[in-house]
Amino acid sequence: MDLDKILEAVAEFVEPHRGKGKVADYIPALASVDPNKFGMAVATRDGTCHKIGDADECFSIQSISKVFTFSLALQKVGDTLWERVGREPSGSAFNSIVQLEHERGIPRNPLINAGAIVVTDHLIDNGDADATTEMLLGVLRDHAEDESIAIDMEVARSESETGARNRSLAHFMASFGNLDNDVETILSAYFRHCALALSCSQLARAALFLAFDGKDPVTRERIVTPQRCRRINAVMMTCGHYDNSGDFAFRIGLPGKSGVGGGVLVIAPGEGAIAVWSPGLNEAGTSTVGALALEALVEQTGWSVFG
Ligand code: GLU
Repeated sequence: MDLDKILEAVAEFVEPHRGKGKVADYIPALASVDPNKFGMAVATRDGTCHKIGDADECFSIQSISKVFTFSLALQKVGDTLWERVGREPSGSAFNSIVQLEHERGIPRNPLINAGAIVVTDHLIDNGDADATTEMLLGVLRDHAEDESIAIDMEVARSESETGARNRSLAHFMASFGNLDNDVETILSAYFRHCALALSCSQLARAALFLAFDGKDPVTRERIVTPQRCRRINAVMMTCGHYDNSGDFAFRIGLPGKSGVGGGVLVIAPGEGAIAVWSPGLNEAGTSTVGALALEALVEQTGWSVFG
């Protein structure tokens, strides 16, 4: 299969749609991103990264970071994670607070904000949010084989300044006894994780282990067990795209995670990891052009978990 040719065809297909959708504007650093940006990268078994467009430009990965913190928490605490976070699609906005009250402070899944805040809490030892953030950075640099990966501290600061809703979610969960660490400590790590800046190429490479049963196919390092890898992919499939996870599964048929920076990470089990970036979002918060590009890619490659 000639992935470079396929990517060229995908880029041609999305060209008339470039700039569609609404760029996230809750913080200046996201609001000022050029809506016409488009990049896509596919990392395959041997670590080769096929790419097109702005695939080497770093963008704010936002909620895509939740996939990595979720994997790390499963590695660290195993199935006890499920005592404090569920694994059902939320059917509500990513930052909904209503559901949390009904469900007594147990968030629906690890890929919505409340769930990721609980996951982050699990990753903090001795109240040291800096160490957790350094650890995550180190893991991403290792997985992507790229030491240049960094956090955009301007985005992290803005996340904190505009973080009233996330603070509310966290305090609400704390009131149900579902957080061990201090709320501000957890959020200082959470906001920095949202502010990680990666390119499509770095992101696809960093997530490659999820396409190969939890083992990096290049370095042969086992990162998560095969069973956990399948489960992480299952949660991405059912919960990875806010309130349009069902539509995404229908259209693309592969597990993935969207972020409001316009990035989408998608896993094609046994084939590779795909990252796409285009900042304009649909109403649910998923990249409009990114989803179109992924639809075109799976049509051309035939990749799907549904046979
Ligand atoms: N920083 C955003 C928040 O926590 C993440 C949004 C997202 O990408 O879903 O509200």
